[in-house]
Formats: sequence, structure tokens, C-alpha cells
Amino acid sequence: MSACIYNQANYLKSAPTLDDLPADEGYEVAFIGRSNAGKSSAINVITNIKGLARVSKTPGRTQCMNLFSMDDERSIVDLPGYGYAKVPLTIKQRWEKAINQYLQKRQCLRGLILVMDIRHPLKELDMHLIEWAMACKVPTHVLLTKADKLKNNELKKTLRDVESELSGYGDLITTQSFSALQRSGIDEVRAVLDQWYEV
Ligand code: GDP
Repeated sequence: MSACIYNQANYLKSAPTLDDLPADEGYEVAFIGRSNAGKSSAINVITNIKGLARVSKTPGRTQCMNLFSMDDERSIVDLPGYGYAKVPLTIKQRWEKAINQYLQKRQCLRGLILVMDIRHPLKELDMHLIEWAMACKVPTHVLLTKADKLKNNELKKTLRDVESELSGYGDLITTQSFSALQRSGIDEVRAVLDQWYEV
């Protein structure tokens, strides 16, 4: 087992546009998901740094890409949450365009962690995201979080259903259950990140 680098994560900067991202080099992994899915909690638990991803909730930064770095080469990008009904259409369209460009152009992007509430998986925008990521050949790991909200048999069924739904994409997409509350699934997601970061 490699040394855990995730607890070395530090807040680096917030980037309002793709042009504000750091140089396109090293290893980047992006976290994305519907607002309230549990993305910030997952980042905090994976890094074991309480409040790390809280910065993304700071007013004015919710539409930003928030960057955290573990070392000179390896960073996490916390992408803006989506699915807020109140957000005007123009902002939604701008978001979709930016995410698409990011997935298409970012050379250092090693993988995407797609966070979904296990009780509401594979909503329309999640499916769009998966299609875009797959079209760009970006390896994607689906984190079905809030697993503590389901009974064991329901959890297994949902996991099976989601895996079956995504099976057409082959190895490019993987799935696991996770709970920030119970701190379960941490080793599994870190193992995926270790591979992407080559640690
Ligand atoms: P984000 O908007 O995707 O960053 O979501 P947050 O991480 O802020 O979480 C949204 C809400 O879900 C908060 O009230 C969290 O406490 C709750 N939450 C996050 N992860 C879990 C989990 O694993 N289990 C449970 N029961 N609640 C969670």
C-alpha cells in the first residue's frame, strides 16, 4: 500500500474560468456532482481534512472550480455543483460548455469522480456528464454516497442497477458505494485515486 498523500491536500485557488486554471501539467482529478449530493463531504473524508472543501461553499465561489494540491504535481479540482433549479438557463448553458471544454482539453486530467446520492442516481445531467466524459475517454469513478441511508439489500440492488446501466462503457467507468457519515468506502476510492495519480 502506497503512502497516503490525500491528507496533505491544501487549498490552492479558486478558478472562475478555464483560463484561470494552473498550467496544464502533472496529475489532476476532478470531483463533480449535483448540488447537495455529498461532494464536499466526500472530499473532506477522503483527505481526512475537516472543512477542506468548505471553501467551495463560500459565496462567490460556488460557480468556481476550486483547486487543492497534495504536492507539486498532484491536485484535486472541485467542480461547481449542478442541478440547482434556481440557476438561470444561461448560467446552466455556460456551465455545460465550460465542463465540456474542460473534459475535452485538459491534458493533465487523469480521472473524474462523479458523486451521486445513492438514493437518486443517474439523473439526466449525471447521464449527460457520463456521456461527455466517455466521449473524451476520461476514466470515471461513480461514488454512490450517503450509503448509510439505505438498507444493505437496497444498497446492493442500487449498486447492481447502476453498474448494469453503465456496463456498455466497459472499464472506463467504475462504481462504488460510499458514506461520509460512516466513513465507509474510503480505501476503495483512494485505491482508484492512487492509480490515477500513480502513487
Ligand atoms: P455537496 O453540495 O455535494 O458538496 O454536498 P455536501 O457534502 O455539502 O452534503 C450535502 C448534505 O448531505 C449535508 O447536509 C451533509 O451533511 C449530507 N451528507 C453528505 N454526505 C453524507 C453521507 O454520507 N451520509 C449522510 N447521511 N449524509 C451526508
